[in-house]
Amino acid sequence: MAAPRVGVVGAGTMGTSLAQHLAQQGFDVILVDVDGAALKRSMETIETRLDQRLEKWAITEAEKRVILKRISPTLSLEAVAPAELVIEAVTEDLEVKKALFRQLDAQSSPEQLLASNTSTLSITELAAVTQHPERVLGLHFVNPVTEMPIVEIIRGLHTSEASVQRARTLMEKAAKVPVEVYESPGYVTTRLIMPLLNEAMYCVMEGVASPEDIDTAMRLGYRFRMGPLEMADRMGLDSVLVAMERLFREYGDVKFRPCPLLKKYVRAGNLGVKTGQGFFRYDEEGRRVDG
Ligand code: NAD
Repeated sequence: MAAPRVGVVGAGTMGTSLAQHLAQQGFDVILVDVDGAALKRSMETIETRLDQRLEKWAITEAEKRVILKRISPTLSLEAVAPAELVIEAVTEDLEVKKALFRQLDAQSSPEQLLASNTSTLSITELAAVTQHPERVLGLHFVNPVTEMPIVEIIRGLHTSEASVQRARTLMEKAAKVPVEVYESPGYVTTRLIMPLLNEAMYCVMEGVASPEDIDTAMRLGYRFRMGPLEMADRMGLDSVLVAMERLFREYGDVKFRPCPLLKKYVRAGNLGVKTGQGFFRYDEEGRRVDG
């Protein structure tokens, strides 16, 4: 049986991790980006991560080569035409994504499933620019996709049952555990995790406890793998702020009001792991240097 073929558009943080995961699961992946340097970086990152797995004896040299061969990086969006499913993971910008969906819709047969990995934008709104909104849905993965088994399958207003079922089958083949979600800002994962991270920041701001102690309390009290403040640092405090602002705007509920300390950190350029400083300090490899 031929390997399923999937197009991944956008070779940034999510596209890179997604392409690696799908290739590891035996999918053929067409990886597209508008930026040649991003594509090159993405393939180098995947190779480095596979080398790390090789060092841990998780894969062999031959398996590494096979996985890499399954990914075809390209600057051409037309290259995704033969794919059963296209998942876009481009910049979180409504206009950029709308333009992309228009183009994907125009160039492919209506049988091709079109999915967005957007964390905050409306699937219905993206689907509205296409001629076949019934084949448009959301597939929301959690970073790193190679390690987190969950995927939220999001129905837009016009997404068909057949499209949801086809996506479910493909996701199960990709060793993901799908949960079905009706379109709603933040779905389940973002809607629940963001207020927790935000509330931990209020605890810091109000002097309730130190960042270290807040994280220790949640790790040891609730078996969190990492505390909420380190989690926010790893997501990027700028991304957390964008998500909170959107939840606040969409629901109009004060429970989603971004913590002023979060805003202050972002304005200061303390974005977490990516700048080496957030609630904690990190080295170039993203390891804690103060813990
Ligand atoms: P990113 O900035 O790391 O990568 C975006 C990539 O898209 C860049 O390489 C850029 O060159 C490329 N791009 C932009 N416009 C393009 C176009 N028209 N065609 C092809 N490529 C294009 O972003 P990211 O963090 O990987 O996020 C991507 C998407 O995934 C967003 O919708 C985001 O909401 C969603 N998401 C992110 C996370 C996360 O933890 N980072 C988690 C879940 C979902």
